[in-house]
Amino acid sequence: MSTAEPPAVAPGATVAELGEEALIALITPMLPHAPGELVGSGDDCAVLALPDGCAALSTDVLVEGRHFRAHWSTGHDVGRRAAAQNLADAAAMGALPTALVVGLVMPPTTTVDWVRDFAAGLAAGCRECGAGVVGGDLSAGESLMVAVTVVGDLQGRAPVLRSGARPGDAVVHVGTLGRSAAGWALLEAGLAPRAETIARAAACLDAFRAPRPPLHAGPALAAAGASSMMDVSDSLLRDAGRIARASSVVLDLGEPEAVLGADVELLEEVAAVLPGTRPRELARWWVLTGGEDHGLLATVPQASLGSLPDGARVIGRVREASAQGPGVLVGGRSAGADLGWDHFG
Ligand SMILES: [Mg+2]
Repeated sequence: MSTAEPPAVAPGATVAELGEEALIALITPMLPHAPGELVGSGDDCAVLALPDGCAALSTDVLVEGRHFRAHWSTGHDVGRRAAAQNLADAAAMGALPTALVVGLVMPPTTTVDWVRDFAAGLAAGCRECGAGVVGGDLSAGESLMVAVTVVGDLQGRAPVLRSGARPGDAVVHVGTLGRSAAGWALLEAGLAPRAETIARAAACLDAFRAPRPPLHAGPALAAAGASSMMDVSDSLLRDAGRIARASSVVLDLGEPEAVLGADVELLEEVAAVLPGTRPRELARWWVLTGGEDHGLLATVPQASLGSLPDGARVIGRVREASAQGPGVLVGGRSAGADLGWDHFG
């Protein structure tokens, strides 16, 4: 890590004007160190001690225009989001996320302020769980793109896979559902200025721009004996279906109004901001089919229900696969391989 003074930056300067080395010198001191960091950024590789002897690893890419829009999200939001979705993947294995390696591609006209804001967002996301940023790469390109690799410490526990759910287990969720989808809908409809004035709607905008996964719940659920787990990145129904198929079981989510009523109620007020919708139906649709809140979905043996982490709630039960095979039941009906969100639309 360089100990040189960060370079002076003229207001409004672009990354092309500052240059790569000066940009790295500017943002490196902003990024937290990782636990177990033996060699940080500045050499050809970082070196991490692995207390567990093995590491959980994953990588994820965010592309401007696909995963975020530069006029919807600040650099801080994009940094936070890039950190959050990767840290959540490590937590979903039951690992404590410890380190990120970050690649950033950007047009040469990107301002230095944006990159500084992005680095601050990465740092803020990492602080939630004590992770650090141990390296990365910068490049010029046509559009903004962020690629992040995460390292997680399993702390001596077995990784929690998608394939371990057993009939009789409880289905548990920690975190929020549907808020990111609601935030996206508000932004897409051009209603962000109005939404900012309504607390619940503003929370949805935040959830879309910079989700805050319950990172500590991953290791806690693993320690409690979770039999399967993943983060909800695509939607409750889609991701529950993934656990169901990997485990050859049925995840019965019961009546959505009964188990997820509080989430639906919260989002109903937000849905009412959108003209020409049926707020209750839209809120239920967001909860069941909205992704990217990055809460944790797990299955837990009944004997472990007394040791669940704060915020964990039981939202269903694992059943034997029927003649129709593995899948997800909502309101007693199969959500089907296509997720069947048309059942609720
Ligand atoms: Mg995931």
